[in-house]
Amino acid sequence: MKVTQAYRFALDPTPAQERALRSHAGASRFAWNWALAKCIERYGAEGRWYSGAELHKLWNAEKKADPALAWWGENSKCAYQEAFRDLDRALRDFIKSKTGQRKGKRLGFPRFKKRGRCRDSFRFGAGVIRCERSTVTLPRLGTVKTHESTRRLARRIEAGTARILSATVSRTAQRWHVSFTVETERDIPAHHPRPGSAVGIDLGIKTLLTGADDRGDVIAIDGPKPLKAALRELRRAGRAHSRKQDGSANKRKSTARLARLHAKVANVRADALHKATTDLARHYETVVIEDLNVAGMTRNRRLARAISDQGFGQARRMLQYKTGWNGGRVVLAGRFYPSSKTCSACGTVKATLSLAERTFRCETCGLAIDRDVNAAVNLLKFAASGAENATACGGTVRPRPARHVPVKQEPGTAHAGKTGTAARQRTAAA
Ligand SMILES: [Zn+2]
Repeated sequence: MKVTQAYRFALDPTPAQERALRSHAGASRFAWNWALAKCIERYGAEGRWYSGAELHKLWNAEKKADPALAWWGENSKCAYQEAFRDLDRALRDFIKSKTGQRKGKRLGFPRFKKRGRCRDSFRFGAGVIRCERSTVTLPRLGTVKTHESTRRLARRIEAGTARILSATVSRTAQRWHVSFTVETERDIPAHHPRPGSAVGIDLGIKTLLTGADDRGDVIAIDGPKPLKAALRELRRAGRAHSRKQDGSANKRKSTARLARLHAKVANVRADALHKATTDLARHYETVVIEDLNVAGMTRNRRLARAISDQGFGQARRMLQYKTGWNGGRVVLAGRFYPSSKTCSACGTVKATLSLAERTFRCETCGLAIDRDVNAAVNLLKFAASGAENATACGGTVRPRPARHVPVKQEPGTAHAGKTGTAARQRTAAA
């Protein structure tokens, strides 16, 4: 079966290439803003906006006619074209969301992008895009060195089992990355090798995840040491940051440092999650997790919470596509299912349970059990009870592999050897 997936690599551009990267990101932002203004203008006059193709045509006419746009040729035409496509999609999604054809959080009308206040990124949807052992070749930018080996993808391309569809270049903290959307051939088994196997998973902060499986085994995966160290560093930097005076050079420096550390934490965490979720998807046909309201949670201001929430969304996405690759499935327990507050032995539900209580003690049956293990057991029971079909907000998710793009590495600053998760992709396919 053909599957679309993403391969992400950190780049090591030369100073000239870095300038070109910034220029392209600027061009993409300009094109978005230019097109959005055109669409708003036309909407005011005619009650409709331009499609992506119309914008492209309009741009081609105007860029030659308007001397103020003479710089357009400095960047690949893709930077503009893809921005028009993105705006086209954003406008359609806005309408779909407004008319209820699109699930999830209500989408606002597309906004103008401001330098320094939006993500620096642009995409190549055509042209010469190549990936060799330790370099990538992109239109206009030429051959750029990667910070890590691209061997896993390069090998698949050489073997003819992978084809690059597009390349998105973006900046996180001070590091540029390229993310290839790749079409690969993947053997997806009709059945999981261990039919009937199931595991309930509780996701945490210090303990990456705690699981309870159908054989009564407990799986506890601790956050890796570098993650704990990075979290400590981040907390310290956060405190120092709040002491700096607003508008000062020191504040600016500490903002950059904070962004770097955030990226590092996200990176280390994503790496650990990849390992864990690959193993889970291979060993269990059914993986049960809580369906938390991730979009709402990431706005939480408490650092530890924000990080765990971000990790939660990642873990869920990873589990969804990885279980799919193994012939398994993810079951989401509705977000009001009290997995933490319910006694996993007798089913009594506590009225309150503070976060500080690490041990769950049941007053009805006397059970004393680790809080996370208790939650994991409850999630496992949730799937076994078939309750997922009864709850409106829960539900079984069977991913359709060809339709979504699993990103193997969330935004993060690359550190040597830390972003090379392509290796694990291969084992996930086995
Ligand atoms: Zn009990």
